[in-house]
Amino acid sequence: MKRIAVYPGSFDPVTYGHLDIVKRSLELFDQVIIAVLSNTMKKSLFTADERYDMLMKVTSVLPNVQVDIFSGLLVDYIKNKSAIAIIKGLRAISDFEHEFQMALMNKKLNPKIETLFMMTNEKYLYLSSSMVKEIVELKGNVLDFVPSYVSKKLKEKLNLN
Ligand code: ADP
Repeated sequence: MKRIAVYPGSFDPVTYGHLDIVKRSLELFDQVIIAVLSNTMKKSLFTADERYDMLMKVTSVLPNVQVDIFSGLLVDYIKNKSAIAIIKGLRAISDFEHEFQMALMNKKLNPKIETLFMMTNEKYLYLSSSMVKEIVELKGNVLDFVPSYVSKKLKEKLNLN
């Protein structure tokens, strides 16, 4: 049986920090589904379709990666996809409390599903989508943090071209 994991997030937009987690997850699972949250309470800069499009572009070279948009309860989605684990990236202690609570709640909702926390690569410890958006707004260069396609889309979105 294929071992499938789901990596959920807003990916507004995808960064090298996210891609590092995806690549490392591929060492552990046969398939990784990147699930773009469309019903997040967080206000996003890009629509779910735009976030999906960027993820499709930048993961096209990676084998065994699927990109999808999802809304609703994560545990139901996982079950639907016959996945066995939820992957989460951890940057700092500040990520931990909320993630810990969510992992326990998801375990309560479906005891069969494991949440796997992957420590960020130290190169990306300080990297977040919101930081990247701020830098682009201030006309800074983000090519160390996101693929060039994403950088282009950010400039277009923020009318900086
Ligand atoms: P954010 O939390 O910045 O709004 P997302 O919701 O898109 O970002 O994040 C999706 C997942 O990726 C989360 O598990 C988050 O902790 C993880 N993640 C985000 N940035 C990094 C990074 N630089 N290194 C490791 N994991 C990360």
